[in-house]
Amino acid sequence: MKGAKKLKNLSINSNLNATGSIFIDMDAKRREVEQLLSDKRNIERKIEHIQAECKHSKQVIKQVASESSFTIRHVCESCGSCLGYPTPEEIKKFLGT
Ligand SMILES: [Zn+2]
Repeated sequence: MKGAKKLKNLSINSNLNATGSIFIDMDAKRREVEQLLSDKRNIERKIEHIQAECKHSKQVIKQVASESSFTIRHVCESCGSCLGYPTPEEIKKFLGT
């Protein structure tokens, strides 16, 4: 089965789609990362869907992680959507000062 002629044909076929299957098979870590990124997109889409459907009937004031620090926001208790900024009085009350 594995004569020289057959192997040569195989390698030609492999080269034709070298950027596809072969590279992915060789780099399991990259494939895992791509799978996780795909999962992340799916999860983010699900969260967006839940937040879009939510009536935000119960608002609470919470500290929310932003890019550089924590900020205080009105947040829906059910879905976690940011609904707006509290007034300075509300912030004072929240911080207990
Ligand atoms: Zn909500």
